[in-house]
Amino acid sequence: MSGLRLMAVHAHPDDESSKGAATTARYAAEGNDVLVVTLTGGERGDILNPAMDVPGVRDRISEVRKEEMAAAARILGVEQMWLGFVDSGLPEGDPLPPLPEGCFALVPLEESTEALVRVIREFRPHVITTYDENGGYPHPDHIRCHEVSMAAYEAAADPEQFPDAGEPWAVQKVYYSHGFIRKRLQLFQEEYDRRGEEFPMAEWLKKWKTEQGDLMARVTTQITCGDYFPQRDDALRAHATQIDPNGSFFAVPLEMQQKIWPTEEFELAKTRVRTAIPENDLFSGIDHVGVASGHQEETK
Ligand SMILES: [Zn+2]
Repeated sequence: MSGLRLMAVHAHPDDESSKGAATTARYAAEGNDVLVVTLTGGERGDILNPAMDVPGVRDRISEVRKEEMAAAARILGVEQMWLGFVDSGLPEGDPLPPLPEGCFALVPLEESTEALVRVIREFRPHVITTYDENGGYPHPDHIRCHEVSMAAYEAAADPEQFPDAGEPWAVQKVYYSHGFIRKRLQLFQEEYDRRGEEFPMAEWLKKWKTEQGDLMARVTTQITCGDYFPQRDDALRAHATQIDPNGSFFAVPLEMQQKIWPTEEFELAKTRVRTAIPENDLFSGIDHVGVASGHQEETK
């Protein structure tokens, strides 16, 4: 299906390239409008690539991250916009230090929700993707991303909420993207075992077994997007300060990923349309004809 609109809400620049990236690339390539909304500027992200931790990068990190984001969006073939909030940083230590003043996670929910509602009412997405209630990983901005997305899903459709933020628009579905699927790593491990080679992510997998269950139980929707994995990896590498090109993300060869696990995983969190689970399309159940004609009328 083409001519539909997908909005992917993310906490930081680079999250769009590591969570559901191949899915957005696929929907864009198939003729849909895909908009990545980045809630914060990623100002407090550490430089994770030793090769980029140099003067000229460190002292202009905000601009560098904007350039990296623009390159990644180009590679994925998606539109991207900033919501303009300030990265909260990942607090570390025991006890945890307080969050920095003015950061995204401390902005009243009402305020950040209104900002996202405004964008939703303008772009009018049929589907939104965001993170689950745990944020995918426990960064305060990721958890806030979940809260803001879910509040905005409800509020954008309600004419009584934020009447100054545009005409109401009812998003049809909201998904959580689930990147950390244990079963996926297990299958890779088995393939390495068969080849008699050492699995480069064995340590990860071992830790995982003891720490948490598999999110696969929550997955409702798998999107086949292996053809877009090269774009996903290139987009990630475009975030050169954030991604170590020798890191574990790139350890498993692309061809093996495309053969053994060519999908990305999502959980249908809210829907205003009827659909049948399991799904293989984020837009399934959405009345394409009605949607398309409505869109044409408004773009005349
Ligand atoms: Zn992030």
